[in-house]
Amino acid sequence: MPSSFELSTLGHRIRHHRVSHGYTLDELGAIVGVAGSQLSLIENGKREPKLSLLQAIARATGTEVSDLLSTEPPNRRAALELELDRAQSSPVFRRLGIPPVRVTKTMSDDTIETILGLHRELQRREREAIATPEEARRANTELRLRMRERNNYLGDIEKLAEKQLRAAGHVSGALTHRSVSIMAEQLGFELIYASDLPHSARSVTDMANGRIYLPPASIPGGHGLRSMALQAMAHRLLGHTPPTDYADFLQQRLEINYYAACCLMPETASVAFLSQAKKDRDLAVEDFRDAFGVTHEAAGMRMTNLLTEHFDIKLHFLRVDGAGAINRVYENDELPLPMDVTGAVEGQIVCRKFAARSAFGEQNRTTEHYQYTDTPAGTFWCSSQTGSTAEGEYSITVGVPFDDARWFRGRETPKRAVSTCPDEACCRRPPADLTARWEDKAWPSARVHMQMFSPLPRGAFPGVDDGEVYAFLDRHAEG
Ligand SMILES: [Zn+2]
Repeated sequence: MPSSFELSTLGHRIRHHRVSHGYTLDELGAIVGVAGSQLSLIENGKREPKLSLLQAIARATGTEVSDLLSTEPPNRRAALELELDRAQSSPVFRRLGIPPVRVTKTMSDDTIETILGLHRELQRREREAIATPEEARRANTELRLRMRERNNYLGDIEKLAEKQLRAAGHVSGALTHRSVSIMAEQLGFELIYASDLPHSARSVTDMANGRIYLPPASIPGGHGLRSMALQAMAHRLLGHTPPTDYADFLQQRLEINYYAACCLMPETASVAFLSQAKKDRDLAVEDFRDAFGVTHEAAGMRMTNLLTEHFDIKLHFLRVDGAGAINRVYENDELPLPMDVTGAVEGQIVCRKFAARSAFGEQNRTTEHYQYTDTPAGTFWCSSQTGSTAEGEYSITVGVPFDDARWFRGRETPKRAVSTCPDEACCRRPPADLTARWEDKAWPSARVHMQMFSPLPRGAFPGVDDGEVYAFLDRHAEG
């Protein structure tokens, strides 16, 4: 069965040949032996002609059946009408419930062009709104590379945050809930804690009544709520309008996170703190974290905003989950990171030898794990801190190239590792003895990852690390 679009194209080609021979519907109908009304239905793509009728039409108009069956629109007008036909039958348009335009002979080409222009724009917006995971990864990578070029530093937002803090009377130390409330009041907002926020929203701002709704504190004293309130205010302060595409959405999210971080760890106070620690050769994420009352992750990420800009120290930040997948990343020190074909790093599995993963094996996890790692891009010193949430374990790593380790606490660590990743022999393949013993005798079932940047480690089974499976089998087979 030909599609309705193929029938429309055929109808347009028949009409083109009929009109160019000067026949009316009834005249051609009389020659080929059907009523004009039948021919009209065929020309409008409403009815499929028999082969014998096609042959008669071809003969009468001096053409070939193969020419009538060509998939090309016969002229510009037909091309416009066919495109409009297709656009008006698309699900995107039909969902709007707007009645389709019926093309008449007297309707000008320009009118059809204008309607088509609107359809094309509708389609474009629809495509952008629902970014595919690949587009999302690309947008994310582009943003990370743009931020890398500017040392992950946004001077305007730094200054704005300091101004707002001064206006609210904040002087030094950790930013209190009280100060955050005052900052909100000065913008005309009241902070309200609601236990029934929609699942998909972290906070909701009522612009009409000047209210910012936040979830009730699950961890009293955690900085999460202050951060969320500051982020909600940032949309207003930074003049954000609803994002037009995914890249815009990511940019806004980065800016509100940045603003919250600047308020919780203001530039002037942070640089003074870090400057003293560097002078004492005692830089440590944990001290910076404790001085400002924030999480290890927030403190580590904040160091990427300030260390290159103010101290000319290049560094990397990694948040890695228990499976070794990268959740969050920044680097400008050339640490060799795993990357997919689009250049995306999120969701990729980091080398098993990296501090970000070896830290999970530490007995004492109350302090940072320090390690030097030789890589194909040189030697790096890293400090990792592990933690856990309802979703499982994670580690936060901040590291620098060998030469800059001298400013950090933990530089004397005797721990060393060698990584040759991305060479698969480094850590991606199970040891030969385990492979010999378990290959063809194991059948793991992969856990399905639901997050957008889902990692799929390569191995004998998709989604499963066969090295871990063989080691598991080995441990249990002995017992
Ligand atoms: Zn490796």
